Amino acid sequence: MSGLAAYAAHPEHSRGRRHPEPAPDYRSEYQRDRDRIVHSTAFRRLVYKTQVFVNHEGDLYRTRLTHSLEVAQIARTAARALKLNEELSEAICLAHDLGHTPFGHAGQDALNACMTDFGGFEHNLQSLRVVDELEEHYAEFNGLNLTFECREGILKHCSYNNALLLGELGERFINRQQPGLEAQLANFADEIAYNNHDVEDGIRAGLISVDGLLSVPLFRNYHDEVQSKHPSLTGRRFIYEILRRMINHLVSDLIDSSAARLGASGVRSIAEVRSYPNALIGFSDATRELNYALKAFLREELYKHYKVRRMTTKASRVVRDLFEAFFTDPALMPDEHEARTRLELVPGPAGRARAVADYIAGMTDRYAILEHGRLYDPRERT
Ligand code: MG
Repeated sequence: MSGLAAYAAHPEHSRGRRHPEPAPDYRSEYQRDRDRIVHSTAFRRLVYKTQVFVNHEGDLYRTRLTHSLEVAQIARTAARALKLNEELSEAICLAHDLGHTPFGHAGQDALNACMTDFGGFEHNLQSLRVVDELEEHYAEFNGLNLTFECREGILKHCSYNNALLLGELGERFINRQQPGLEAQLANFADEIAYNNHDVEDGIRAGLISVDGLLSVPLFRNYHDEVQSKHPSLTGRRFIYEILRRMINHLVSDLIDSSAARLGASGVRSIAEVRSYPNALIGFSDATRELNYALKAFLREELYKHYKVRRMTTKASRVVRDLFEAFFTDPALMPDEHEARTRLELVPGPAGRARAVADYIAGMTDRYAILEHGRLYDPRERT
């Protein structure tokens, strides 16, 4: 890829794949990463996994798949503007949520609680586990055998104890280093995407309103601008004209502020980016405030809305019940998953718990609900 900045990820300087492979003929190494992600089983399942609204609540809400596509789109724009590696940014974004449980954060929190005594459950780490271990596509290795830079980007957070188990990928959490810029960018693209699409989905669901959102400065500014430019505009188009401006504001600020920071830092390579004392991709102070106010509004008014809470409570119960049933009696699981409980992925009961967690985490919302019925409702067929 020509035109990359010196501090971008250059595929010819990649730290490589865990299992060495010949270079691809027509694609870059990062294109190959992206293509493997798109062809993975976990990627297809994202269409049936919750973002905020459970999949069967409506056909028009975001799912993890459409969310991931929006994240990738935002990251690609910013990557190109900053002369970062667009292909790597896209690959990281498409993979960033592969490890999510059914039912979004409620599912992850419930599964983490079930796994407290067995090393916990963390969706970032699970995304890495999916691409490193759980996908079964290739003859010569487990997982997708992605490049170091892509795996580094997928592992956004990691506890100190888990970092110790991850070899070179865990080092940055121990040494408090930064990931490459494409990974830093993916985090912001994720946040820009969900803050804005959750506004749209929340309004669509009738859980938040335009009037309520006027307390959010970023929304209010563009609300007023759209109203004065298009005085008779209402409904969906009115909302979307506001949202496209909000997204544009956040993305433009991210590009400008990051470019300024990169310039001032003097970094000249991905190695210097990694050892730089702080992240170089980020908003300006003013936009960070605007973004924070939007997040705070969504947290209070949407994610804590009683209707969302009812669904998340049900979802946690389903996940807990599934774990309880399978951990107590692994023979209740389909054969291939039951067999994995005997593999001793980790010694002792923690290995059994991990195999159960892998099975549950891989479920779509719908499949988890069906499994729950088959286990707990005697009227359901097994
Ligand atoms: Mg996400």
